Amino acid sequence: MPPRAVYVHIPFCERLCGYCDFPKVLFNAKWAFSYVKALREEFEAGNVGEVDTAYIGGGTPTSLPDPLFEEVLRMVEPHLAPASEFTVEANPESLSRSKLEAMRRHHVNRLSIGVESAHGKYLSLMGRKHTFADAVEAVGLARKSGFSNINCDLIYALPRESAKELDEDIAALLSLDVPHLSAYCLSIHKGTPFFNRGLVEADNDLAADQYERILAAFRGAGYDRYEVSNFARRGFESRHNVIYWRDEEYYGFGMGASGYVDGVRYDNTRSLGLYLGGHPRMKDEKITPESDLTYFLLTNLRLEKGFELARFERRFGFPFLPKYKEKVAPLVKEGLLLVDGMSVRCSDRGLLILDQILLDLI
Ligand code: SF4
Repeated sequence: MPPRAVYVHIPFCERLCGYCDFPKVLFNAKWAFSYVKALREEFEAGNVGEVDTAYIGGGTPTSLPDPLFEEVLRMVEPHLAPASEFTVEANPESLSRSKLEAMRRHHVNRLSIGVESAHGKYLSLMGRKHTFADAVEAVGLARKSGFSNINCDLIYALPRESAKELDEDIAALLSLDVPHLSAYCLSIHKGTPFFNRGLVEADNDLAADQYERILAAFRGAGYDRYEVSNFARRGFESRHNVIYWRDEEYYGFGMGASGYVDGVRYDNTRSLGLYLGGHPRMKDEKITPESDLTYFLLTNLRLEKGFELARFERRFGFPFLPKYKEKVAPLVKEGLLLVDGMSVRCSDRGLLILDQILLDLI
């Protein structure tokens, strides 16, 4: 069956954040025009059918000028199935009334807004262009325009961030009263400005403490964790992102996008020049049974519910437990993995050291 989800990447940003490792470039009007043209060509060649979820991410999709932004929405819209989820990522400073109206016209029904922190000093350290007041205004404007399904992102474990500062960020995010929150630990990747400036990640214990504070506060405020970094009020889980975590197929278009179609995982080029020159694809990876298993575990165990044993067996043609029992038993004994005859999932403690569990299993 062809994929029922599509991702479209818009790589432009009005400013480049110091920690960012995503495929992105500084906005340039001429490039943006050529980019949307190249994107349309790639999209049309992709033979996308009807999809249940669509996601336009970046970069900053809302950094596109209104006509180009609407052109991208118009490209995706005809593929939406009834009752589909259509998400667009936005930064507070570029979420204008006209963009919101365009999204309503083209059936976007979910927004993901990069708020990241309520502290001016951390927002400027990260290189963000907005203030927390801008974020409050953006959420308010989105609501007035008819959006109720809104996610806001938080970044924690910032350099020298105190527990008090984190608590203030948590309270600020909760005050936005949106139905979905994401919390990401700051990673410092090689080659980023943060890395080049010698900034280092918080140590594991501190990051774990901060994560536990977030988990307790979000749960206390009525959000369920459904993936290690994602929290939602009931019914507001991101259907699109759950497709990635269940390791199901999806189309991906745009510079730096990846996709998984017809048993092939692929990555597009991160070079704008190559992309504009009509060479979107960087590499295809033919799946082997081993790599397929690895991907499945890497993604599914991030979910609070883990995976159903029956779904595993349907996909791989053999049952999970007999093959993995020797690796699973010590993890179950330590209370890190929970196996109940129907499913396999990580405990709260297990999700804190997910990477270690995956190393043990794979
Ligand atoms: S706005 Fe987002 S994509 Fe753009 S540089 Fe910042 S973190 Fe990266």
